[in-house]
Amino acid sequence: MKILARNRKIFYTNYEMVFYALDGDRKFVFPCNDYGELDSDSMTVEEMQFFEDCISKNVGVSDPVVEETSKSFIASAIGVCDVCINQVVIDSARNMCSGCGSEYDYHGHSLDRLPLVS
Ligand SMILES: [Zn+2]
Repeated sequence: MKILARNRKIFYTNYEMVFYALDGDRKFVFPCNDYGELDSDSMTVEEMQFFEDCISKNVGVSDPVVEETSKSFIASAIGVCDVCINQVVIDSARNMCSGCGSEYDYHGHSLDRLPLVS
């Protein structure tokens, strides 16, 4: 199998609009971009209503602040099937090609010639 991409760590920055409750240590968090613009597309109707309550100060909260956190995740390796040239995500000990059913191990080596263990 030819490996197109190895496992790799992807870093990104997450932004949230945060309102702190004036009467305690609770906080209310809403998705936004680095300019503090609300990401309303990812919010439910109920979340949007609560955001409106926060921004109009109907609930006891501070002015909003934009908080930034660094995050990361592991992107799986991707290989090309030797049999049918479909792309195969390599993220476990057995990875099956959706095109032909060939199987590959975590390193992209074919498992198809190994005897079945019963
Ligand atoms: Zn295949």
